[in-house]
Amino acid sequence: MTVPQAGRLRNVRYDIRGPVLRHARQLEAQGHRILKLNLGNPAPFGLDAPDAVLGDVVRNIGDAQGYSDARGIHPARLAVAQYYERRGVPGVGPDDVFLGNGVSELIAMAVQALLDPGDEVLIPSPDYPLWTAAVNLSGGHAVHYRCDEQAGWEPDLEHVAARITASTRAIVIINPNNPTGAVYSRPTLLGLLDLARRHGLLVLTDEIYDQILYEDAVHETAAALAPDLLVLSMGGLSKTYRLAGFRSGWLVVSGPQHEAAEYVEGLELLANMRLCPNVPAQYAIQTALGGVNHISELLQPGGRLLDQRDHAWQKLTEIPGVDCVKPAGALYLFPRLDPDVYKIRDDEQLVIDLLEQQHILLTHGTGFNLPTPDHLRMVFLAAVPVLDDAISRLAAFLQDYHQ
Ligand code: PLP
Repeated sequence: MTVPQAGRLRNVRYDIRGPVLRHARQLEAQGHRILKLNLGNPAPFGLDAPDAVLGDVVRNIGDAQGYSDARGIHPARLAVAQYYERRGVPGVGPDDVFLGNGVSELIAMAVQALLDPGDEVLIPSPDYPLWTAAVNLSGGHAVHYRCDEQAGWEPDLEHVAARITASTRAIVIINPNNPTGAVYSRPTLLGLLDLARRHGLLVLTDEIYDQILYEDAVHETAAALAPDLLVLSMGGLSKTYRLAGFRSGWLVVSGPQHEAAEYVEGLELLANMRLCPNVPAQYAIQTALGGVNHISELLQPGGRLLDQRDHAWQKLTEIPGVDCVKPAGALYLFPRLDPDVYKIRDDEQLVIDLLEQQHILLTHGTGFNLPTPDHLRMVFLAAVPVLDDAISRLAAFLQDYHQ
């Protein structure tokens, strides 16, 4: 008997965890050590969660044995609502918050509750590809808007406007952005929000890196800039609090709730169907959000993340034919390989060849729904000597590489 795959999946791609990763597993099975600079997973690089946050989970473990409220435990939802209140989002309370098994689960729920077949959602290109996959899996149609590398990867507002049709239901904003590291300016955000206002679009804003900012970058909370719009803001513990394995995230509904009563009822239905998010991890949220900004010491001068970003960026851009917008936020470098120097037709193949020859795992740019095969994404979570060595090996590989 053959078991066919659901037809629905044919239009769903999630290359950043696809064939390249399978290749890496095969090499590992043969005994090779692979340097994985492909995932924004802080813990394996020695970036541990704050002790106080872990301590609270341990202290509450006995109370975490049963299912919780389907939206999540009240103190955690209150802490999330207060966090957004402090960021200038008016009128949000614990009833406007849904906790989830990571932002990933909440992305899937938010689009599943929204889309009918053929509905369109505007998504940045490049994107964090789960957004595109989730929209397509929900029967919707992901429509990509261009982010302009020449303008520090800010969204091209004219292109966004040109892509809106009668079927457009929502716009996705990923800020700070994965993979580009762009932190959007206030005028850009106001421009995107104004398009949402004029065309009656739901705003879905993924702000999981909102506290991972370098030098003088400032993150503007979209929901605070547009209190008159229905905005779903998402964040979680995976990055700032280095707790990716806890699978703990949140979604906050703000704006004119009366316009969204039916939609929110749909979200509640989906929340009920998964019973509740992982309960022990919910006990981390109040302490995480209530305390000092736990990540700031890694981002200040002398801090690990800032040093690693600066070092990796400098070294990458010294490779002939490689340039890179310096990321103002998040954990990634997204270098461009000049097509006049490197004639790459298939960037996934390039990443596989690099993996086989140098045992370094990066991610190809088209995996982020970029239309051209001329970018790579490198995570800069590894310590400076490791990044140094990896980039030297990448440079040596590129010197003789032909497709
Ligand atoms: N959103 C963005 C932009 C991300 O980069 C990631 C993970 O890399 C996620 C969401 C997923 O986060 P979580 O671990 O909370 O599911």
